[in-house]
Amino acid sequence: MPRRIYFTHSGLDRAPDLRRDEAWIARHLHDRTTEIVPLWRDRNLITPGDTPTARTVTGAHARGLLRMAGEVALLGMRGDTAFFTADLSQHDLPVLTPVIGGGEFLDLRQVSPVMERREGAVLAYARGLLHWHRRHRYCGECGSPTHSRHGGHMRLCANPRCGREHFPRTDPAVIMLVTRPGPDGGACLMGRQKSWPEGLYSTLAGFVDPGESLEEAVAREVQEEAGVAVTGVTYMASQPWPFPSSLMLGFRARATSVDIHVNPDELDDARWFTKGQIARFGELGLSLPRQVSIARWLVDRWLAEEDG
Ligand SMILES: [Zn+2]
Repeated sequence: MPRRIYFTHSGLDRAPDLRRDEAWIARHLHDRTTEIVPLWRDRNLITPGDTPTARTVTGAHARGLLRMAGEVALLGMRGDTAFFTADLSQHDLPVLTPVIGGGEFLDLRQVSPVMERREGAVLAYARGLLHWHRRHRYCGECGSPTHSRHGGHMRLCANPRCGREHFPRTDPAVIMLVTRPGPDGGACLMGRQKSWPEGLYSTLAGFVDPGESLEEAVAREVQEEAGVAVTGVTYMASQPWPFPSSLMLGFRARATSVDIHVNPDELDDARWFTKGQIARFGELGLSLPRQVSIARWLVDRWLAEEDG
């Protein structure tokens, strides 16, 4: 069985109906059992260790923290416990230390491989939602300030003549493993960007253009980056990737051409790799993307297949 994709399955009921009820939100925000997920400048509060854990704040600490918070948003319910996230970015760290009572603000991407999956999903959700708030403080229609509503799942333009409602956004991006048949189970196409760590190869990926289907985006990106034509574009799985605001849509595609023509504006290199070559990546000085990424999930899934 392929493993579960990181940053999914938070186990939270997002309570879309309840979060419109301001009295319900206020009551739960100040409930003793409510857990606050703090965020500071895109970093999550984590207790480090061999298995880092998400640190939430409850009770009296939570009340102090909420008084200092900028945006606060409901993440959802787990059983009878409400989870909110609170943005503390406007403060310097020393001011926050006594309020949070422990833990460190860390980049989720660095620690999530060794975290319990469900916790990583909650932290990713909090990070993505608060990032959207920070980038949408003004109305894109009329330029007036916007205010958070619906427990932090909508922002309303303060200008009564406009009154536009803004909802959280995610940017769709396609990510695809392109394969071709051949000996040793066939080969897959991977590339690398100049800015990546030396030797790292990954699946190709790119953002979806306006007026473009996902299938078209897959074919365009592979052609654009590596000069390879594809067919049989098949959806596999998706992954929220709130770094800062993407949804990765994972695909497989079959190559109908073999020759690679790397676009130097997009990639440093692209190559076909057989399963045998990937098995020897370590001795070749090459590496695959990290376990948390859907890129790695796509590669591992292909590696596990019998017929390539
Ligand atoms: Zn407006």
